Amino acid sequence: MRKVLLSVLPLFLLIPIAMLMGCSAAPTINLPTPVSTVGQATPITVHATDPRGIRGASATIEQNGASYPVWQMAQPSMAKESTWNFTAGVKTTPQLKDGKAKLIVEVTSNGLMHKSARIEQDVTVVTQPPSVSVDSEQHYIYIGMADVATFNVSGAYTAAGVRVGDQSYRAWPMPGGKPGLFSLFAFAWNMPQSTIPVVFASNGAGNDVTSPITVIFPKKEQPHYTVHDLQVSEAFMQKVVGELDPNGSGDMVARFVRINTEMRKANNKTLSDLRFKTADHFLFTQPFARQSHSQAEATFADLRNYIYQGKKIDQQVHLGYDLAVTQHVGVEASNDGRVVWAAPLGIYGNCIVVDHGYGLQTIYGHMSHFDVHEGDMVKRGQIMGQSGMTGMAGGDHIHFAMQLDGVQIDPKEWWDPHWIQDHITKRLDVGMAPMSHVSAAPTKKKSHTSKPKKHR
Ligand SMILES: [Zn+2]
Repeated sequence: MRKVLLSVLPLFLLIPIAMLMGCSAAPTINLPTPVSTVGQATPITVHATDPRGIRGASATIEQNGASYPVWQMAQPSMAKESTWNFTAGVKTTPQLKDGKAKLIVEVTSNGLMHKSARIEQDVTVVTQPPSVSVDSEQHYIYIGMADVATFNVSGAYTAAGVRVGDQSYRAWPMPGGKPGLFSLFAFAWNMPQSTIPVVFASNGAGNDVTSPITVIFPKKEQPHYTVHDLQVSEAFMQKVVGELDPNGSGDMVARFVRINTEMRKANNKTLSDLRFKTADHFLFTQPFARQSHSQAEATFADLRNYIYQGKKIDQQVHLGYDLAVTQHVGVEASNDGRVVWAAPLGIYGNCIVVDHGYGLQTIYGHMSHFDVHEGDMVKRGQIMGQSGMTGMAGGDHIHFAMQLDGVQIDPKEWWDPHWIQDHITKRLDVGMAPMSHVSAAPTKKKSHTSKPKKHR
Protein backbone atom coordinates (compact mmCIF):
# COMPACT_ATOMS: atom_id res chain seq x y z
CA MET A 1 0.00 0.00 0.00
CA ARG A 2 2.70 2.44 1.01
CA LYS A 3 4.81 1.46 -1.97
CA VAL A 4 1.94 2.27 -4.29
CA LEU A 5 1.50 5.75 -2.82
CA LEU A 6 5.19 6.54 -3.20
CA SER A 7 5.21 5.63 -6.83
CA VAL A 8 2.01 7.55 -7.57
CA LEU A 9 2.97 10.84 -5.88
CA PRO A 10 5.75 11.84 -8.26
CA LEU A 11 3.31 11.45 -11.12
CA PHE A 12 1.00 13.98 -9.47
CA LEU A 13 3.94 16.35 -9.21
CA LEU A 14 5.10 15.73 -12.75
CA ILE A 15 1.80 16.48 -14.45
CA PRO A 16 1.55 20.15 -13.35
CA ILE A 17 5.20 20.69 -14.27
CA ALA A 18 4.61 19.18 -17.69
CA MET A 19 1.53 21.36 -18.09
CA LEU A 20 3.52 24.44 -17.11
CA MET A 21 6.15 23.60 -19.68
CA GLY A 22 3.54 23.14 -22.36
CA CYS A 23 1.85 26.45 -21.56
CA SER A 24 5.09 28.35 -21.47
CA ALA A 25 5.23 29.08 -25.21
CA ALA A 26 8.40 30.45 -26.76
CA PRO A 27 8.54 34.17 -27.61
CA THR A 28 8.31 35.25 -31.23
CA ILE A 29 10.66 37.77 -32.79
CA ASN A 30 10.84 39.65 -36.09
CA LEU A 31 12.42 42.67 -37.75
CA PRO A 32 9.52 44.79 -39.11
CA THR A 33 11.86 46.74 -41.40
CA PRO A 34 14.09 44.39 -43.41
CA VAL A 35 17.80 44.93 -42.80
CA SER A 36 20.18 43.98 -45.60
CA THR A 37 22.96 46.49 -45.14
CA VAL A 38 24.61 48.05 -42.10
CA GLY A 39 26.34 51.40 -42.54
CA GLN A 40 27.55 54.13 -40.19
CA ALA A 41 24.51 53.97 -37.87
CA THR A 42 21.75 51.91 -39.44
CA PRO A 43 18.40 52.02 -37.63
CA ILE A 44 17.13 48.58 -36.62
CA THR A 45 13.71 47.78 -35.17
CA VAL A 46 13.03 44.59 -33.22
CA HIS A 47 9.52 43.39 -32.45
CA ALA A 48 8.86 40.55 -29.99
CA THR A 49 5.76 38.95 -28.48
CA ASP A 50 5.44 36.77 -25.40
CA PRO A 51 2.39 36.34 -23.14
CA ARG A 52 4.67 36.62 -20.08
CA GLY A 53 6.83 39.48 -21.34
CA ILE A 54 10.52 39.60 -22.25
CA ARG A 55 13.29 39.44 -19.60
CA GLY A 56 16.23 39.95 -21.93
CA ALA A 57 16.96 41.04 -25.51
CA SER A 58 20.21 41.70 -27.29
CA ALA A 59 21.78 42.08 -30.72
CA THR A 60 25.26 41.19 -31.93
CA ILE A 61 27.06 41.39 -35.25
CA GLU A 62 29.39 38.57 -36.22
CA GLN A 63 32.08 39.16 -38.79
CA ASN A 64 35.27 37.28 -39.64
CA GLY A 65 34.96 35.03 -36.58
CA ALA A 66 34.50 37.89 -34.10
CA SER A 67 31.28 38.77 -32.29
CA TYR A 68 30.45 42.39 -31.40
CA PRO A 69 27.60 43.25 -29.05
CA VAL A 70 25.67 46.13 -30.60
CA TRP A 71 22.60 46.44 -28.35
CA GLN A 72 21.06 45.19 -25.12
CA MET A 73 17.59 45.97 -23.78
CA ALA A 74 17.63 48.33 -20.80
CA GLN A 75 15.02 46.68 -18.56
CA PRO A 76 12.71 43.65 -18.68
CA SER A 77 9.32 44.21 -20.24
CA MET A 78 6.09 42.73 -18.88
CA ALA A 79 4.16 43.69 -22.01
CA LYS A 80 2.91 40.95 -24.35
CA GLU A 81 4.33 42.90 -27.27
CA SER A 82 7.51 44.94 -27.28
CA THR A 83 9.24 47.02 -29.92
CA TRP A 84 12.76 48.38 -29.59
CA ASN A 85 14.71 50.72 -31.85
CA PHE A 86 18.47 51.02 -31.90
CA THR A 87 21.24 51.70 -34.37
CA ALA A 88 24.13 49.47 -35.37
CA GLY A 89 27.12 50.28 -37.50
CA VAL A 90 30.68 51.46 -37.75
CA LYS A 91 30.01 54.54 -35.62
CA THR A 92 29.58 52.41 -32.49
CA THR A 93 31.47 49.31 -33.68
CA PRO A 94 34.54 50.64 -35.52
CA GLN A 95 35.97 47.11 -35.85
CA LEU A 96 33.43 46.30 -38.61
CA LYS A 97 34.82 46.11 -42.13
CA ASP A 98 33.00 46.53 -45.45
CA GLY A 99 31.73 43.12 -46.49
CA LYS A 100 29.55 40.29 -45.34
CA ALA A 101 28.44 39.93 -41.70
CA LYS A 102 25.67 38.41 -39.63
CA LEU A 103 23.19 40.27 -37.44
CA ILE A 104 21.90 38.13 -34.56
CA VAL A 105 19.01 39.24 -32.38
CA GLU A 106 17.87 37.15 -29.41
CA VAL A 107 15.06 37.56 -26.87
CA THR A 108 14.34 35.57 -23.70
CA SER A 109 10.90 35.05 -22.21
CA ASN A 110 9.87 36.03 -18.68
CA GLY A 111 8.16 32.62 -18.50
CA LEU A 112 9.39 29.97 -16.05
CA MET A 113 11.36 28.10 -18.68
CA HIS A 114 13.19 31.22 -19.94
CA LYS A 115 12.57 30.16 -23.49
CA SER A 116 14.27 32.22 -26.16
CA ALA A 117 13.93 33.10 -29.83
CA ARG A 118 16.64 34.16 -32.22
CA ILE A 119 17.00 35.74 -35.66
CA GLU A 120 20.14 35.37 -37.74
CA GLN A 121 20.24 37.72 -40.68
CA ASP A 122 22.94 38.00 -43.35
CA VAL A 123 23.89 41.64 -43.84
CA THR A 124 26.49 43.57 -45.77
CA VAL A 125 28.53 46.18 -43.97
CA VAL A 126 28.75 49.17 -46.31
CA THR A 127 30.56 52.32 -45.26
CA GLN A 128 31.81 53.51 -48.63
CA PRO A 129 29.17 54.96 -50.97
CA PRO A 130 28.95 53.30 -54.39
CA SER A 131 30.19 55.26 -57.37
CA VAL A 132 28.60 55.60 -60.78
CA SER A 133 30.11 56.40 -64.14
CA VAL A 134 27.76 57.27 -66.96
CA ASP A 135 28.27 56.99 -70.71
CA SER A 136 29.43 60.26 -72.21
CA GLU A 137 26.80 60.15 -74.93
CA GLN A 138 24.47 63.02 -75.58
CA HIS A 139 20.90 61.87 -75.53
CA TYR A 140 18.64 63.56 -78.06
CA ILE A 141 15.13 63.14 -76.82
CA TYR A 142 11.69 64.63 -77.11
CA ILE A 143 9.18 64.93 -74.32
CA GLY A 144 7.30 61.66 -73.94
CA MET A 145 10.12 59.68 -75.51
CA ALA A 146 12.36 56.90 -74.25
CA ASP A 147 16.08 56.28 -74.61
CA VAL A 148 18.88 54.06 -73.30
CA ALA A 149 21.61 55.08 -70.87
CA THR A 150 24.59 52.83 -70.18
CA PHE A 151 26.66 53.09 -67.02
CA ASN A 152 28.79 51.33 -64.44
CA VAL A 153 28.31 51.12 -60.70
CA SER A 154 31.16 50.14 -58.40
CA GLY A 155 30.94 49.34 -54.72
CA ALA A 156 28.01 47.75 -52.93
CA TYR A 157 24.54 48.91 -53.97
CA THR A 158 21.01 47.71 -53.44
CA ALA A 159 19.26 49.79 -56.11
CA ALA A 160 20.41 51.50 -59.30
CA GLY A 161 18.93 52.96 -62.44
CA VAL A 162 17.92 56.23 -64.01
CA ARG A 163 15.85 58.79 -62.15
CA VAL A 164 13.90 61.49 -63.95
CA GLY A 165 12.19 63.78 -61.47
CA ASP A 166 10.16 61.52 -59.19
CA GLN A 167 10.18 58.58 -61.63
CA SER A 168 12.81 55.88 -61.63
CA TYR A 169 13.74 53.26 -64.19
CA ARG A 170 15.48 50.04 -63.26
CA ALA A 171 19.04 49.13 -64.13
CA TRP A 172 19.61 45.86 -65.94
CA PRO A 173 22.86 44.00 -66.64
CA MET A 174 24.00 44.57 -70.23
CA PRO A 175 22.65 41.79 -72.46
CA GLY A 176 24.86 38.86 -73.45
CA GLY A 177 27.04 39.02 -70.34
CA LYS A 178 28.74 42.25 -71.46
CA PRO A 179 30.10 44.37 -68.59
CA GLY A 180 28.11 47.26 -67.21
CA LEU A 181 24.49 48.19 -66.74
CA PHE A 182 21.82 49.99 -68.71
CA SER A 183 18.42 51.54 -68.17
CA LEU A 184 15.66 52.26 -70.61
CA PHE A 185 14.34 55.58 -69.37
CA ALA A 186 11.68 58.03 -70.47
CA PHE A 187 11.23 61.74 -70.26
CA ALA A 188 7.54 61.74 -69.38
CA TRP A 189 5.11 63.93 -71.30
CA ASN A 190 4.43 66.05 -68.20
CA MET A 191 7.99 66.28 -66.88
CA PRO A 192 9.27 69.88 -66.60
CA GLN A 193 11.85 70.38 -69.33
CA SER A 194 14.39 71.67 -66.81
CA THR A 195 14.51 68.23 -65.14
CA ILE A 196 17.94 66.62 -65.44
CA PRO A 197 17.85 62.82 -65.66
CA VAL A 198 20.45 61.17 -63.43
CA VAL A 199 21.93 57.74 -63.01
CA PHE A 200 21.62 56.74 -59.37
CA ALA A 201 22.93 54.04 -57.10
CA SER A 202 22.01 53.61 -53.46
CA ASN A 203 23.32 51.13 -50.94
CA GLY A 204 20.52 50.94 -48.42
CA ALA A 205 22.80 52.43 -45.76
CA GLY A 206 21.74 55.99 -46.51
CA ASN A 207 24.15 56.53 -49.40
CA ASP A 208 22.59 57.68 -52.66
CA VAL A 209 24.94 58.82 -55.40
CA THR A 210 23.87 60.35 -58.70
CA SER A 211 25.49 61.40 -61.94
CA PRO A 212 23.71 63.50 -64.56
CA ILE A 213 22.87 62.31 -68.08
CA THR A 214 23.44 64.77 -70.90
CA VAL A 215 20.09 65.35 -72.53
CA ILE A 216 19.48 67.58 -75.51
CA PHE A 217 16.06 68.59 -76.70
CA PRO A 218 16.31 69.12 -80.45
CA LYS A 219 13.36 71.47 -80.24
CA LYS A 220 13.92 74.35 -77.88
CA GLU A 221 10.32 75.12 -77.18
CA GLN A 222 7.97 72.89 -75.20
CA PRO A 223 6.32 70.51 -77.67
CA HIS A 224 2.91 71.60 -78.67
CA TYR A 225 0.31 68.97 -78.06
CA THR A 226 -2.98 69.34 -79.86
CA VAL A 227 -6.03 70.44 -77.95
CA HIS A 228 -9.40 68.95 -78.86
CA ASP A 229 -12.89 69.78 -77.77
CA LEU A 230 -14.72 66.53 -77.35
CA GLN A 231 -18.51 66.83 -77.48
CA VAL A 232 -20.04 64.53 -74.87
CA SER A 233 -23.43 63.55 -76.23
CA GLU A 234 -26.30 62.47 -74.01
CA ALA A 235 -26.01 58.96 -75.47
CA PHE A 236 -22.26 58.77 -74.80
CA MET A 237 -22.71 59.92 -71.21
CA GLN A 238 -25.47 57.34 -70.64
CA LYS A 239 -23.32 54.60 -72.17
CA VAL A 240 -20.23 55.39 -70.10
CA VAL A 241 -22.04 55.90 -66.80
CA GLY A 242 -24.27 52.85 -67.33
CA GLU A 243 -21.33 50.62 -68.18
CA LEU A 244 -18.72 51.85 -65.69
CA ASP A 245 -20.86 52.97 -62.72
CA PRO A 246 -23.87 50.60 -62.99
CA ASN A 247 -24.78 50.73 -59.29
CA GLY A 248 -24.17 54.44 -58.80
CA SER A 249 -26.80 57.09 -58.39
CA GLY A 250 -27.03 60.84 -58.50
CA ASP A 251 -25.99 63.51 -60.95
CA MET A 252 -24.92 62.03 -64.29
CA VAL A 253 -22.29 64.69 -65.00
CA ALA A 254 -20.68 64.20 -61.57
CA ARG A 255 -20.59 60.43 -62.12
CA PHE A 256 -19.12 60.85 -65.61
CA VAL A 257 -16.42 63.19 -64.33
CA ARG A 258 -15.63 60.83 -61.45
CA ILE A 259 -15.16 57.96 -63.92
CA ASN A 260 -13.01 60.16 -66.14
CA THR A 261 -10.77 61.31 -63.28
CA GLU A 262 -10.76 58.85 -60.37
CA MET A 263 -11.33 55.66 -62.33
CA ARG A 264 -8.82 56.79 -64.97
CA LYS A 265 -6.25 57.37 -62.23
CA ALA A 266 -6.91 53.97 -60.62
CA ASN A 267 -6.76 52.21 -64.02
CA ASN A 268 -3.46 53.92 -64.84
CA LYS A 269 -2.08 52.78 -61.48
CA THR A 270 -3.09 49.18 -62.31
CA LEU A 271 -1.32 49.51 -65.67
CA SER A 272 1.75 51.03 -64.03
CA ASP A 273 1.97 48.21 -61.47
CA LEU A 274 2.27 45.70 -64.32
CA ARG A 275 5.88 46.90 -64.70
CA PHE A 276 6.84 44.23 -62.18
CA LYS A 277 5.57 41.54 -64.56
CA THR A 278 8.38 41.91 -67.03
CA ALA A 279 11.05 39.71 -68.58
CA ASP A 280 14.75 40.34 -67.89
CA HIS A 281 15.51 40.38 -71.62
CA PHE A 282 13.89 41.64 -74.82
CA LEU A 283 11.21 39.24 -76.04
CA PHE A 284 11.22 40.81 -79.53
CA THR A 285 13.67 40.94 -82.41
CA GLN A 286 11.95 43.41 -84.76
CA PRO A 287 10.62 46.95 -84.51
CA PHE A 288 7.08 47.40 -83.24
CA ALA A 289 4.32 47.21 -85.84
CA ARG A 290 1.37 49.50 -86.03
CA GLN A 291 -2.10 48.00 -86.45
CA SER A 292 -2.55 47.26 -90.20
CA HIS A 293 -4.52 49.77 -92.29
CA SER A 294 -5.30 51.83 -89.21
CA GLN A 295 -6.06 55.50 -89.15
CA ALA A 296 -4.95 57.52 -86.12
CA GLU A 297 -7.89 59.47 -84.78
CA ALA A 298 -6.01 60.68 -81.73
CA THR A 299 -2.31 60.76 -80.89
CA PHE A 300 -0.15 60.75 -77.78
CA ALA A 301 -0.67 63.39 -75.10
CA ASP A 302 -3.55 65.15 -76.86
CA LEU A 303 -5.31 67.46 -74.46
CA ARG A 304 -9.06 66.88 -74.42
CA ASN A 305 -11.72 69.26 -73.24
CA TYR A 306 -14.94 67.40 -72.48
CA ILE A 307 -17.88 69.58 -73.56
CA TYR A 308 -21.38 68.69 -72.40
CA GLN A 309 -24.34 70.85 -73.36
CA GLY A 310 -21.98 73.63 -74.38
CA LYS A 311 -20.12 73.61 -71.08
CA LYS A 312 -16.62 72.26 -70.35
CA ILE A 313 -17.06 69.60 -67.66
CA ASP A 314 -13.59 68.01 -67.64
CA GLN A 315 -10.13 67.98 -69.16
CA GLN A 316 -7.81 64.99 -69.57
CA VAL A 317 -4.65 64.07 -71.43
CA HIS A 318 -4.95 61.15 -73.83
CA LEU A 319 -1.86 58.96 -73.40
CA GLY A 320 -2.06 56.80 -76.48
CA TYR A 321 -3.13 56.45 -80.09
CA ASP A 322 -6.71 55.80 -81.14
CA LEU A 323 -6.42 53.50 -84.14
CA ALA A 324 -9.53 52.83 -86.18
CA VAL A 325 -9.96 50.29 -88.96
CA THR A 326 -13.33 48.56 -89.19
CA GLN A 327 -15.69 47.30 -86.55
CA HIS A 328 -14.50 44.14 -84.79
CA VAL A 329 -11.18 44.13 -86.60
CA GLY A 330 -8.57 41.63 -85.40
CA VAL A 331 -6.30 43.37 -82.87
CA GLU A 332 -2.67 42.66 -83.77
CA ALA A 333 0.11 42.25 -81.22
CA SER A 334 2.56 45.07 -81.93
CA ASN A 335 5.51 42.80 -81.24
CA ASP A 336 6.51 39.46 -79.71
CA GLY A 337 5.85 39.27 -76.01
CA ARG A 338 3.90 37.79 -73.14
CA VAL A 339 0.32 38.74 -72.22
CA VAL A 340 0.39 40.09 -68.65
CA TRP A 341 -3.19 41.39 -68.58
CA ALA A 342 -6.31 40.32 -70.49
CA ALA A 343 -9.34 41.52 -68.54
CA PRO A 344 -11.70 44.49 -68.18
CA LEU A 345 -9.95 47.60 -66.91
CA GLY A 346 -12.39 50.45 -66.28
CA ILE A 347 -12.17 53.23 -68.86
CA TYR A 348 -9.92 51.06 -71.06
CA GLY A 349 -12.72 48.49 -71.35
CA ASN A 350 -11.56 44.98 -72.23
CA CYS A 351 -7.82 45.52 -72.20
CA ILE A 352 -4.72 43.54 -73.10
CA VAL A 353 -1.22 44.38 -71.93
CA VAL A 354 1.74 42.64 -73.58
CA ASP A 355 5.15 42.64 -71.94
CA HIS A 356 8.17 42.89 -74.25
CA GLY A 357 10.90 42.78 -71.59
CA TYR A 358 12.94 45.31 -69.61
CA GLY A 359 9.76 47.05 -68.42
CA LEU A 360 8.55 47.84 -71.97
CA GLN A 361 4.86 47.03 -72.50
CA THR A 362 2.09 47.66 -75.05
CA ILE A 363 -1.55 48.32 -74.14
CA TYR A 364 -4.68 47.62 -76.24
CA GLY A 365 -8.02 49.00 -75.04
CA HIS A 366 -11.78 48.92 -75.80
CA MET A 367 -11.73 45.36 -77.18
CA SER A 368 -14.93 43.37 -77.72
CA HIS A 369 -13.40 39.91 -77.49
CA PHE A 370 -10.18 38.19 -76.36
CA ASP A 371 -8.47 35.29 -78.11
CA VAL A 372 -5.56 35.19 -75.64
CA HIS A 373 -5.17 34.78 -71.90
CA GLU A 374 -2.80 36.17 -69.32
CA GLY A 375 0.48 34.25 -69.56
CA ASP A 376 0.20 33.50 -73.30
CA MET A 377 3.17 34.23 -75.53
CA VAL A 378 2.17 36.21 -78.63
CA LYS A 379 3.98 36.85 -81.91
CA ARG A 380 4.25 40.15 -83.75
CA GLY A 381 1.07 40.61 -85.83
CA GLN A 382 -0.81 37.81 -84.04
CA ILE A 383 -4.55 38.49 -83.67
CA MET A 384 -5.27 38.72 -79.93
CA GLY A 385 -8.99 39.40 -80.19
CA GLN A 386 -11.35 41.91 -81.75
CA SER A 387 -11.69 45.65 -81.48
CA GLY A 388 -14.78 47.14 -79.92
CA MET A 389 -16.06 50.03 -77.85
CA THR A 390 -15.95 48.72 -74.27
CA GLY A 391 -15.01 51.21 -71.56
CA MET A 392 -14.87 54.92 -72.32
CA ALA A 393 -15.26 54.61 -76.09
CA GLY A 394 -18.01 56.08 -78.20
CA GLY A 395 -17.09 54.11 -81.31
CA ASP A 396 -15.18 51.01 -82.37
CA HIS A 397 -11.41 51.60 -82.24
CA ILE A 398 -8.22 50.31 -80.63
CA HIS A 399 -6.69 52.47 -77.93
CA PHE A 400 -2.99 51.66 -78.37
CA ALA A 401 -0.46 52.82 -75.80
CA MET A 402 3.01 51.97 -74.53
CA GLN A 403 4.59 52.16 -71.13
CA LEU A 404 8.12 51.90 -69.86
CA ASP A 405 8.59 50.94 -66.21
CA GLY A 406 5.01 52.05 -65.66
CA VAL A 407 5.34 55.48 -67.34
CA GLN A 408 3.26 55.89 -70.49
CA ILE A 409 5.38 56.93 -73.48
CA ASP A 410 4.85 57.96 -77.09
CA PRO A 411 4.83 54.79 -79.23
CA LYS A 412 5.80 56.50 -82.49
CA GLU A 413 9.58 56.00 -82.17
CA TRP A 414 9.11 52.30 -81.48
CA TRP A 415 7.33 51.98 -84.84
CA ASP A 416 10.43 53.42 -86.54
CA PRO A 417 13.04 50.77 -87.48
CA HIS A 418 15.77 53.43 -87.84
CA TRP A 419 15.13 54.88 -84.41
CA ILE A 420 15.17 51.43 -82.79
CA GLN A 421 18.44 50.67 -84.57
CA ASP A 422 20.14 53.92 -83.55
CA HIS A 423 18.81 54.24 -80.03
CA ILE A 424 18.33 50.71 -78.78
CA THR A 425 19.88 47.95 -80.89
CA LYS A 426 23.27 49.60 -81.46
CA ARG A 427 23.76 50.75 -77.89
CA LEU A 428 22.80 47.44 -76.32
CA ASP A 429 24.39 45.43 -79.13
CA VAL A 430 21.37 43.15 -79.34
CA GLY A 431 20.45 41.32 -82.50
CA MET A 432 17.48 42.60 -84.50
CA ALA A 433 16.05 41.27 -87.70
CA PRO A 434 17.54 42.80 -90.86
CA MET A 435 15.80 46.00 -91.89
CA SER A 436 14.60 44.48 -95.16
CA HIS A 437 12.44 42.04 -93.23
CA VAL A 438 10.74 44.82 -91.42
CA SER A 439 7.48 46.20 -92.68
CA ALA A 440 7.21 49.95 -92.66
CA ALA A 441 5.50 51.18 -89.55
CA PRO A 442 2.80 53.86 -89.69
CA THR A 443 0.54 53.88 -92.68
CA LYS A 444 -0.68 57.14 -94.05
CA LYS A 445 -3.29 55.31 -96.04
CA LYS A 446 -6.82 56.37 -95.32
CA SER A 447 -9.00 53.76 -93.74
CA HIS A 448 -10.99 51.94 -96.38
CA THR A 449 -14.09 52.45 -94.30
CA SER A 450 -15.18 56.00 -94.77
CA LYS A 451 -17.56 55.86 -91.84
CA PRO A 452 -16.40 58.40 -89.27
CA LYS A 453 -15.36 56.90 -85.95
CA LYS A 454 -16.11 58.40 -82.61
CA HIS A 455 -13.16 58.27 -80.29
CA ARG A 456 -12.63 59.12 -76.66
ZN1 LIG B 1 -7.85 56.33 -76.68
